[in-house]
Amino acid sequence: MIQDEVSYSLPLMVACNCKDEVQLVVGTNSLGTCKNRIRSILRSGAHAVVVSPTQEGDVKQLLSTFGQYSRFQLIDRPWQLSDLTSLGRPLVARVVDRVFVQLPLDQCLVGKEIYEQCIKLRIPINVFQRPEWSTFHVGSTYVDPQSSGLQISVSTNGQGCILANRIKREIIASLPSNISQIVSNVGRLRDQIINEDQQKLIKDHYNSTKDLALAENVWYGLNSEYESQNLNHLVKEFDMTERDQKLKRTRWLSQLIEYYPMSKLADVSLNDLDGPSEEQQGQKQQSGTQGKPSNSESIENDDSTQNSVALEERKSRSSSRGRISLVGSGPGSVSMLTLGALQEIKTADIILADKLVPQSVLDLIPEDTETFIARKFPGNAERAQQELLEKGLTSLREGRKVVRLKQGDPYIFGRGGEEYIFFTEQGYEPSVFPGLSSALASTVVARVPATQRDVADQVLVCTGTGRKGALPEAPEYVKSRTTVFLMALHRVDVLVQELLAHSWDTEVPAAIVERASCHDQRVTRTLLKYVPEVVEEIGSRPPGLLIVGHSVAALIQSSLKTFDDSNKYSIEEGFQETDIGLGALLK
Ligand code: SAH
Repeated sequence: MIQDEVSYSLPLMVACNCKDEVQLVVGTNSLGTCKNRIRSILRSGAHAVVVSPTQEGDVKQLLSTFGQYSRFQLIDRPWQLSDLTSLGRPLVARVVDRVFVQLPLDQCLVGKEIYEQCIKLRIPINVFQRPEWSTFHVGSTYVDPQSSGLQISVSTNGQGCILANRIKREIIASLPSNISQIVSNVGRLRDQIINEDQQKLIKDHYNSTKDLALAENVWYGLNSEYESQNLNHLVKEFDMTERDQKLKRTRWLSQLIEYYPMSKLADVSLNDLDGPSEEQQGQKQQSGTQGKPSNSESIENDDSTQNSVALEERKSRSSSRGRISLVGSGPGSVSMLTLGALQEIKTADIILADKLVPQSVLDLIPEDTETFIARKFPGNAERAQQELLEKGLTSLREGRKVVRLKQGDPYIFGRGGEEYIFFTEQGYEPSVFPGLSSALASTVVARVPATQRDVADQVLVCTGTGRKGALPEAPEYVKSRTTVFLMALHRVDVLVQELLAHSWDTEVPAAIVERASCHDQRVTRTLLKYVPEVVEEIGSRPPGLLIVGHSVAALIQSSLKTFDDSNKYSIEEGFQETDIGLGALLK
């Protein structure tokens, strides 16, 4: 379903491959704009042919700026209608590929004439400052000067190009300063993985089947791993198929891109994608064997000099016995972090964080505090958990203060209990700091009162994924209950099927809440019966959860109008930040 499809139309935003095209520029008004236009044409790999210079001096200026480019041509004569069908490539019968009209206002009728002809010939056309005679327009575009390939284009669709420019600047300013390195590094890793792993899979497949078409099919199948709705599909750690095994790094890279702090993506290496090895697993519980993680684990803060000074300082002030705390970091927003958690973060010697711990909270960690983020990727949870426990134990035996930073609340599906038992058995009983669980914060940010008189008198928090990936037993349907399913969206079709088989009401309201309390929060409302279809359509933005119950519609007037087959869901984007500046204040 397309929201608002009848109320208004929006242009389709696309990035065109214009290599080798011939693009015609009619007129040179005004020269500055025209030069920018030519620059972007040349940058796209197309040829720029300019006819009908507007002012006398324009020819000289344009030749001095672009004269050295072989893909630039200036024709110093008035425009002719036949230019549209004579200046293009032989390949397309000399019809030009795209037209930009840069004529002064007093020649605007010429623009109209060119437009009408272009429409007949199906040539895309843009007439400067005349949207009604244009079939496309160019947004306010930023091109990464460091040639990473990053481009950001903003359009307000005729509501002010100055505003579009301003929005573009704001977006660029909010990107991490190493954005070029991030894009280049991720691109490089992706290429390496595709070449090494995926090519190998195709080759193996071809060798065993001798069927090239089949092998190529495997290749197309593999590319779908990058589609967001496939990111989170269930992978069994101890029962991976051969294909899952081979695609491990592809999937892990997708996970890193989704979950890791953006700025760290510049340093991720292939080593990080290998995760803890089987051998490491075998060494479990041997203290002191790993010491400080190696530099290849680029997820750490990497100023080693600063680190070692801080380490020495802390060692001398700490008692010889290490201490550990299990700390909940809340669902995302710094405003949902407890003061106890903040104190622990500020006084840690080493922080062992879950991969879901939000960036805004990680930003509060002092620069010289050693930080390690769990490498929990699909099919690797057990090993990554073991790796974290070992690191914790090693540090404790060195007399350090270990903070095990967990997303949400440590005891709500956070393995907090298991870790408590593990460290206690080793002689280090953790202090535990509760956190605001995503289960209950998500209801609030989605305007769902988990309990409400006459609507819901009980709340159930449960998981959609049991141990080793098995589907847990379906809870019974209680009309007056709000049920929150964590870890459920990657296999929501099976879950909903199971619920419906257990007599759940197909019409009960449901909300999919993703990245609750983060700036890119998304709340999708629908009915239980539509949930699988809706998730398939909107793709995933992890982490996310599912809330089911009549409370979902209790505060939302528009939800009273029930969804139906032609209007299956509604989406609300973004989180009303209450903590703007709070992160900086707490640093
Ligand atoms: N201890 C955590 C839950 C860990 S299990 C807590 O108390 O919140 C991980 C699951 O939590 C994810 O699969 C997702 O279902 C849910 N989750 C965590 N953070 C979330 C967020 N910000 N928005 C929506 N769901 C979230």
